[in-house]
Amino acid sequence: MNGHEVCIIIKVMDIYEFLRREVRYLKGVGPKRAQLFKKLGIVTVLDLLYFAPRRYIDRRSITPIHQVRRGEEVTVAGKVLMKGTKKVRKNLVFTVVISDGTDWMELVWRNVRGIEKVFNKGDQVIASGRAYVYRGTKVIYHPEYEIIDDNKQPAGSKILAGMLVPVYPSTEGLKPRFIRKLILDVLETVGNEIPETLPDYIRNKFGLYSRKDALHLIHFPRDLKEARVARKTLVFEELFYFYIKLLEKRVESKGLGIPLQVRNELTGRFFKLLKFELTGAQKRVIAEITEDMGKNAPMHRLLQGDVGSGKTVVALYTMLVAVENGYQAVMMAPTEILAEQHFLVMSEYLIPLNVKIALLLGKMKKKDKELSLERIRSGDADITIGTHALIQDDVEFKKLAVAVIDEQHKFGVLQRAKLLEKGYENKSPHFLVMTATPIPRTLALTVYGDLDVSVIDEMPPGRGNIVTKWVRESRRDRVYSWLFDEVKKGNQAYVVAPLIEKSDKLEAEAATELYEKLKNMAPEGIKIGLIHGKMKKDERGDVMRMFRNGEFHILVATTVIEVGIDVPNATIMIIEHAERFGLAQLHQLRGRIGRGSKKSYCILITPSKVSEDAKRRLKAMVETTDGFKIAEIDLEIRGPGEISGTRQHGLPRFRIANLVRDQKIIQITRSEVEKILEFDPFLTKPQNRIIKETLANEKIGEVIYVG
Ligand code: ADP
Ligand code: MG
Repeated sequence: MNGHEVCIIIKVMDIYEFLRREVRYLKGVGPKRAQLFKKLGIVTVLDLLYFAPRRYIDRRSITPIHQVRRGEEVTVAGKVLMKGTKKVRKNLVFTVVISDGTDWMELVWRNVRGIEKVFNKGDQVIASGRAYVYRGTKVIYHPEYEIIDDNKQPAGSKILAGMLVPVYPSTEGLKPRFIRKLILDVLETVGNEIPETLPDYIRNKFGLYSRKDALHLIHFPRDLKEARVARKTLVFEELFYFYIKLLEKRVESKGLGIPLQVRNELTGRFFKLLKFELTGAQKRVIAEITEDMGKNAPMHRLLQGDVGSGKTVVALYTMLVAVENGYQAVMMAPTEILAEQHFLVMSEYLIPLNVKIALLLGKMKKKDKELSLERIRSGDADITIGTHALIQDDVEFKKLAVAVIDEQHKFGVLQRAKLLEKGYENKSPHFLVMTATPIPRTLALTVYGDLDVSVIDEMPPGRGNIVTKWVRESRRDRVYSWLFDEVKKGNQAYVVAPLIEKSDKLEAEAATELYEKLKNMAPEGIKIGLIHGKMKKDERGDVMRMFRNGEFHILVATTVIEVGIDVPNATIMIIEHAERFGLAQLHQLRGRIGRGSKKSYCILITPSKVSEDAKRRLKAMVETTDGFKIAEIDLEIRGPGEISGTRQHGLPRFRIANLVRDQKIIQITRSEVEKILEFDPFLTKPQNRIIKETLANEKIGEVIYVG
């Protein structure tokens, strides 16, 4: 090694160290500003460079104020004539008046503390947003803004020389100009040394910039195309390393599984017991699972299938494969009601097959629980069904080879992992997670990025269809008299009480009230039951059983019936204050009906006025019963962070990538990474060495799992 090389190596070390350094040590930052940066997720210098603008204001398209029209998105530039704060009702309102010589207008903020200190008379301001006209005055409320005081801050002029002004996500307390200057300083100091992360062949194949160009141009592009490619490059890089890390784990787990061959003993007899023919989709999924389980790498499979599509049979089959090979299987469900229902349904098949089944719930009597634990430990229980109680430390399996999780979205990533630690001889059990919350494919690829996906996209035959109607409150009485007529004909119905966010107690009260009301309204002979989350587990179980046996015509319920309950004779669902429910929730609820061959009805009752978003949700419900379409619409309305079950339960939060906008790159990077790891599982080929080096030196591709 000659001196020159040593020098380069030291430099490389320095740059990594520099990028890892905290921003507070950068000139002009200090502890106070560092605190503000931290709120934006920026701790290190590298975080700062990756702080991508949300958009750019194109200074070439500034509209003269006299041409500003009501309702248009505009960017205006002008000088501050005056500013002032006043109180309107209880709110502080801050107004800046600007003029550009053609006309004047107001910029207005409500309740934004500290904003008045930002502007001074005489400042040159660029502002953009939607224009309104209020009492004859043109106004932009809460504009994106930028103060251009080139004279005071010479460095600023250089930054603003370009025509595209980056707009950062809300940077309370930190002036955008300060951030830009800081970023520019960093780039000018070390910009050229920022190490590359993606192999050349990948960058060429997908038309990406080098990392250092991308980091420069995302902040200071000369045109929008540069900004776009810079962003694409950084999104690609982020997702690429996200998948490298996820899928690398799978490479590591090769050889750690328990290969299981289908012997057609129990499984064969099980198929003969079924009272129905499997659907094509069920057969296909079963074949996929069979192939997975034969390998010496553990299966990691997500089974997506709309409510009622018949996932339980698939789960039973999967567990029986373990049992006929002399191993144990476990199934975890999110609620006690659901676990009990699985226990009952599965017992019907398992008892004739002489398969021993145990139940484990958190609230079981101590004696019963000990007994179950002992049966699990000794291997007497072939199949165990339970709730979160299963992941406690005191649960030890003798020979666990298959783990199934039902309604996976109700569990967190960690809970998933805990169950998997209980495999036989420290091996990883084959793992099947099931969800009836259809999530769009791209989300599945990230939330469940390490899982293979099977989809049951076909309903069992002979299902009556579901008609969904959206009805205003004024017609409620008519809905209920129709309901009473229907149940007299022998149909059963659910009536769902209004959702009361975060309060089981209030929700239970609302359900109780509704129950009393219906009891008063109902004609003689109609029996009504009540179920809610504040009832004891035993009581709930009794009510569910009675409803299933037809002892009630109508069941008034809260969302405790949302998940998994199966009563084929229930053909009507009425949801009160449907506008309060999320789309995924409404869809789940509706999934409780349409399970038999009769036509079913879902009636959504709302006040006459509902919000725009609620309207879109209700319309979507009326228009389609396809869970995947519903999920796509939900994603559009709410954005990925809000999609049910992903926010609380392990939705990765990316630095730059956006799960809605970047769907294409998500797909491309995942399949590219799969190819790379197939061809070069340990990343030892020269063209991939850069990946290994990056992993060793940077915390790249590590995402925060929310929840
Ligand atoms: P989910 O996918 O929501 O868990 P289930 O497994 O509970 O659905 O199945 C719903 C109902 O459909 C059950 O009563 C089940 O016995 C029945 N079922 C499942 N597969 C078929 C099939 N291939 N043909 C007819 N009925 C079926
Ligand atoms: Mg189910």
